[in-house]
Amino acid sequence: MVENIAIDARNVGKIYGAGASAVTALGDVSIAIKQGEFFTLLGPSGCGKTTLLRCIAGFETPTSGCISLSGRDITYTPPNERPVNTVFQSYALFPHLSVADNIGFGLKMQGKPRAQIKASVERVLALVKLEDFANRLPAQLSGGQQQRVALARALAPEPEVLLLDEPLSALDLKLRKEMQSELKRLQTETGITFIFVTHDQEEALTMSDRIAVMSAGALLQVGTPHDIYDRPVNRFVADFIGETNFVEGRVEGEGVRIGTGDVLSVTLDGQAGEVTLAVRPEQVSITKAGMGIAAKIIDATYLGTDTHYMLELGDQSRMVARIQSNSAGGLKVGDVVGLRIDARAVQVLKS
Ligand code: ATP
Repeated sequence: MVENIAIDARNVGKIYGAGASAVTALGDVSIAIKQGEFFTLLGPSGCGKTTLLRCIAGFETPTSGCISLSGRDITYTPPNERPVNTVFQSYALFPHLSVADNIGFGLKMQGKPRAQIKASVERVLALVKLEDFANRLPAQLSGGQQQRVALARALAPEPEVLLLDEPLSALDLKLRKEMQSELKRLQTETGITFIFVTHDQEEALTMSDRIAVMSAGALLQVGTPHDIYDRPVNRFVADFIGETNFVEGRVEGEGVRIGTGDVLSVTLDGQAGEVTLAVRPEQVSITKAGMGIAAKIIDATYLGTDTHYMLELGDQSRMVARIQSNSAGGLKVGDVVGLRIDARAVQVLKS
């Protein structure tokens, strides 16, 4: 249903420059982002995330295709006429204006009455929990507080869609974690559609309703964090999202055999012969030698709750198993063991 879609991008392409120096930043991207969704564009540096965001904001015009917002074509609408606001990585606050004046700046430019600006500023200051900081200058705030002001400023005009371009990357890890849940709370409380750009897969998995994984100007997969983690469509997605073992095996009957192990009954889609399986480290368990796939522990890394074991199989290929430390029961480097793989979580990769 069209009314449930906030941003509908159809066949959007963007080429910077021309001739020999032309760069295709976006190939042919089609995506529908639902109203009230926390939607993340995830991919490595240079894959086109920011370009897509800038096309939605109106700072760039697509070379081909069109973008609509709540059913209205906005492909050529100037940025200031779109009900869209952006929070940048650099907070871009005005250093000489107080927090309150920074937040109210856009509303003032729009010619809104004083009383309305004051009410809006108070509302968003409460939303980001900075009521007591209204009169400070940006230089008198911590990085996290400046980030909140930038968020409050973007939320003040009540946009339909808020674009966030790696807004947490300048923060240290602890603050970043705090701001992740803060952003999620803000999005839930306001019901505004958030489109968030990051190259951090963990951040994407914890915050998003849905994620679009991008590579080289193309969308590879769009889905919930579970879809993407449990059913990556190809090797790139499996590798980019979380740690993955790529294991060679061969199709036998209804399943795949790895090394000396039993046939794993995995879902096959017409594949035959040699195949590659994506196996998450937590889906590998270690058992006694003589059972499952023969392997040897060649390295162990204690990570607190879990321990990572590097295992070498008979054909010299390697696999990582993540085992809860308190159930590892004296496993040590050099042990000859057997491996079991939870077949339910295994993906047979297409490419
Ligand atoms: P990052 O995470 O590093 O910000 P990104 O995924 O956001 O990367 P974009 O900034 O969208 O990627 O860039 C996509 C491609 O387009 C890159 O190859 C980049 O060099 C190129 N590009 C971006 N902006 C321009 C521009 N103004 N002129 C020419 N090429 C550009």
